[in-house]
Amino acid sequence: MPSLAEYCRTELAALEAAHRRRSLTESMRDGVSVTQGVQRYISFACNDYLGLSQHPAVIAAAQEALAAYGAGAGASRLVTGDHPLYAPLEAKLAAMKGQEAALVFGSGYLANIGTIPALVGKGDLILADKLVHACLLDGAQLSGATLKRFRHNDASHAQALLQEHRAGYERTLILVDHVYSMDGDVAPLAELSALAKSHDAWLMVDDAHGFGVLRNRDTSGVDLWMGTLSKSVGAYGGYVAGAREIIDCLTSAARSLVFSTGLPPANCAAALAALGIIEAEPQRGERALALARRFTDALGLPPAQSAIVPLILGEERAALAASDALRAQGILAVAIRPPTVPPGTARLRLAFSAAHEDAHVERLIRALKTERLAA
Ligand SMILES: *Cc1c(COP(=O)(O)O)cnc(C)c1O
Repeated sequence: MPSLAEYCRTELAALEAAHRRRSLTESMRDGVSVTQGVQRYISFACNDYLGLSQHPAVIAAAQEALAAYGAGAGASRLVTGDHPLYAPLEAKLAAMKGQEAALVFGSGYLANIGTIPALVGKGDLILADKLVHACLLDGAQLSGATLKRFRHNDASHAQALLQEHRAGYERTLILVDHVYSMDGDVAPLAELSALAKSHDAWLMVDDAHGFGVLRNRDTSGVDLWMGTLSKSVGAYGGYVAGAREIIDCLTSAARSLVFSTGLPPANCAAALAALGIIEAEPQRGERALALARRFTDALGLPPAQSAIVPLILGEERAALAASDALRAQGILAVAIRPPTVPPGTARLRLAFSAAHEDAHVERLIRALKTERLAA
């Protein structure tokens, strides 16, 4: 066996050869402007869709809570980490999702990997869209249930899989994203919830990229909503929302809640303040969506369905070159490569925010045309 360091050196060389090595870059954000080293960029890479991470009222709420409650939660929520800000935060989330109750986790990732294994296990079936977020798949794997994937947004393929396999399992859970994180398209929730009902399955929807941007749709056919406080909400943390019994069950059974420290109080305060702004100012979400639409219209792309627009370029190298070319023009747009997306679909993932000015979007459009990355 090589030494651990030698082993990692070989792995890194392989990643490098495949143009898949990743590294961390220090970034300072100020609104949609990002500074890396001495360079400043307009960012289309951030998930702060409503600009709330930098909102004065959100920052002030966090500062007050920091002064009142200190920096860290000190323990798991089930021990002594459940400080008084959780109750209003969860009540607000439940109300905004149209559900009886909500449960806040340390992150969206932790919410998914804790929730799924608490609901299904060996002898059960999980049906997941081909493009669901990695943490839903990690949760599925941890659960020990049998995982089958249906073609992206293809409810008839999901139906065929249910007809073929449903009878062989006890419980069945269907997993989808509301808005797909690397494609920006929206799941056919009405069809999927009808399917879940007719085939005796549960439907869980990851709303990390829809919340705050898309108007509330009919939520009645969804058994469990999951979301994050780290994107449109501008803070950090994750949650699930659903019927009271589901939430009570997860409070005891989700290992990532039971065995992980609660969020810092200042973080809950920031999220709570941000939710108030989302509720009071729906025009923020509308603006993010309108800017994405303006962009897709200008480039003759299919109309944006969310604040995310992919520009698919094919090979890793093409996506990296496009990202570099935009950087040279002062624009930050991250190249997304396999294994985050399927091989041959490396892309620029563009995220639009209410905090972007019209001129920022015009600049992006011009830069892409200049670089012949768009017609
Ligand atoms: C970002 C994301 C998550 C994870 O949320 P975090 O709070 O960042 O851990 C889960 N699902 C989807 C679809 C996401 O995009």
